[in-house]
Amino acid sequence: MEIVSNFDGGAIEVIELRENGELDLALRHDTNAPDFRQWFCFQLLGARGKACKLSIVNAGQATYPDAFEDYRACASYDGRRWFRVPTSFDGERLVIEHTPRTMTVTYAYFAPFSFERHQKLLKRARRAPWAMVRELGRSVEDRPISLVVVGEESEDKLSIWVIARQHPGETMAEWFMEGLLDRLLDEDEPLLQSLLGRAVFYLVPSMNPDGGVHGNLRANAAGMNLNRAWLEPTAETSPEVLCVREEMERIGVDLFLDVHGDERNPYCFLAGCEGNPSYGERLRFLENLFEQSLLEHNSDFQDEYGYDRDEPGGGDLRTAGNWVGERFDCLAYTVEMPFKDNANAPDEENGWSPERSMHLGHSALDAIVDSLDALRGDAVFDGEQTQESQVSEDG
Ligand SMILES: [Zn+2]
Repeated sequence: MEIVSNFDGGAIEVIELRENGELDLALRHDTNAPDFRQWFCFQLLGARGKACKLSIVNAGQATYPDAFEDYRACASYDGRRWFRVPTSFDGERLVIEHTPRTMTVTYAYFAPFSFERHQKLLKRARRAPWAMVRELGRSVEDRPISLVVVGEESEDKLSIWVIARQHPGETMAEWFMEGLLDRLLDEDEPLLQSLLGRAVFYLVPSMNPDGGVHGNLRANAAGMNLNRAWLEPTAETSPEVLCVREEMERIGVDLFLDVHGDERNPYCFLAGCEGNPSYGERLRFLENLFEQSLLEHNSDFQDEYGYDRDEPGGGDLRTAGNWVGERFDCLAYTVEMPFKDNANAPDEENGWSPERSMHLGHSALDAIVDSLDALRGDAVFDGEQTQESQVSEDG
């Protein structure tokens, strides 16, 4: 038997492999970031038909140990079709019990989204005559930070920004992005023509390609949590954020989604900008509009469970959602999907999956379309206008 993890997105340490199928493994920490330790992805070779017990012995020292409660590991025989395998956690060891049906099986914290698949996604975008790919800058390790632009750019149009995988181990975020792009690149998509007459999409499918390749949960190659770098990004430690922020300043932002996965919560949910200094009625209205539309369009989405709401003024402006919302006075949401499953609609075989992530990305386009009319200006406040918005509408 052999464990292999020296591939794109791979991460595990081998402690001991015993012939009886009892394997002791350990989580390793993110590159230059000893505090982040959760993602794993590795292949087990030569164990076909053997009842294996894979113990990750330091799971209790993970960044979010409680995230392993009610969690089941993901497995695949071909790297395409992923399913869940029996997993238990006693507070210290995460134990995967599985009898592989083939000589090679991959286990992962969640279905990986490889750099190769990322490049294929960009290639598809380049082929569509109404889309293009721009390189905004380079990561710490010199990988391109690619922006997919969908629609003909014009200052009159609304600028819709969606970014994913600031936290590289939250691979469901790029699956979401693929689902969204599937619609935007489909010439038979009925909404496409009218939509692209009014809006341009700016999509960053992978904010942290270095972290993805290294198999990190949250950090980039410099050990930075990019979703705490938006207030003061630097060329040395967070060039990925710096180049995206510069492009946003150049173009403007009318709607922003920052897509993530949540280790603990078994739900899909949104986190808004209620803690921002300039948050008010207009943004509250827009948030509600978007959220209600997503509820209508996707049965996995819900608005009951999520993060505690920020106190007024308590928003963390180092995060993308808060920073963009404040800087551009726009609708800005952090989108969260589960690593485990949707507890409202559990799937015994697959748990939360790439397919469901893609479907949520697909539905996000409907919520974006439903919000477009309201993004700029105050005309939408009919019936419940505040004094302030009345004044600006008239003026
Ligand atoms: Zn995240």
